[in-house]
Amino acid sequence: MAPYDSNCGTQTDIKGIVAGTPDADRAVRYLVKYLNKSIAEPFADDDADAAYEAHIDRLHCELRWLPCSEQCSNWLRYGVQPAGAAEGMVPGSCPKKHHDREHLGLGGRRCLVSRKWTGKTLKRHKADRAQVVKEALLNYGYVAPEIERLSAEVLADDGKPRYLWTPKQANPATYSRIIMRGIQEKRLWISQYSEAKTFQAAVERQARSELKTNAPVINSATPP
Ligand SMILES: [Zn+2]
Repeated sequence: MAPYDSNCGTQTDIKGIVAGTPDADRAVRYLVKYLNKSIAEPFADDDADAAYEAHIDRLHCELRWLPCSEQCSNWLRYGVQPAGAAEGMVPGSCPKKHHDREHLGLGGRRCLVSRKWTGKTLKRHKADRAQVVKEALLNYGYVAPEIERLSAEVLADDGKPRYLWTPKQANPATYSRIIMRGIQEKRLWISQYSEAKTFQAAVERQARSELKTNAPVINSATPP
């Protein structure tokens, strides 16, 4: 048998990544997948902070009992049958990663795989969601509220910010009045959107049944 040499020392294999190549794509996917792999790790270096560790322990303890997925045995605590329930399921004994101290609620991937990325910014996503809400309200006859009307980003005619937000000690009576008005407004928005969604669901149900039966169906839900 011929003799063989084997080197098991430190090896460095440095490769450059050129943007736009399949290799770059793969590298980004890999990085994203393992980004923040262990949630408990970042601050728990050699000189572990006792308060930090105690906090992680407490979080870990809470997470043991929270349902992590449709199949989680912790649903039994709430009288809900987990999907694919089997004999012997006991709350607090779910084997999924989410309950580990290392993962702290995050099982599996931390981010969407890159093929599912939309390429949109968070602002764009927010605008998309706002558009969905606006359309639903409009279909039901409500005009969508201008929720950003007091935002620091609203500009005046001269192009400067319209409002300047600074900390201020408000008069207690004024403060409670403003907060109460804010709560009332928010509740009104929620109930209007809820009505609009119910209406939209009814319209969609009707459209589906029309498609099925190919016969006209009277829509019982009508805008105010
Ligand atoms: Zn679970």
